[in-house]
Amino acid sequence: MIVDCEKCEELLQPYLDRDLDEAERAEAEQHLRDCAYCRRRYRFEVELRRFVRQSVEEPMSPALKQRLASLRIPL
Ligand SMILES: [Zn+2]
Repeated sequence: MIVDCEKCEELLQPYLDRDLDEAERAEAEQHLRDCAYCRRRYRFEVELRRFVRQSVEEPMSPALKQRLASLRIPL
């Protein structure tokens, strides 16, 4: 299988989800090594996912801390 940019784009999400079989992953990795365009897209997706994960996790914890703190302070 030869992975072109279109195919690579298709593989990118399952690749990030670790949903590809070994052969597909190898093909995707090879294309990412050879193609600066897809490598940029890949890095963007990685950053995006990190950002999304953080924005899901981080607003919760200060709010939760504040709630816990307010429970501790006697009125
Ligand atoms: Zn490409």
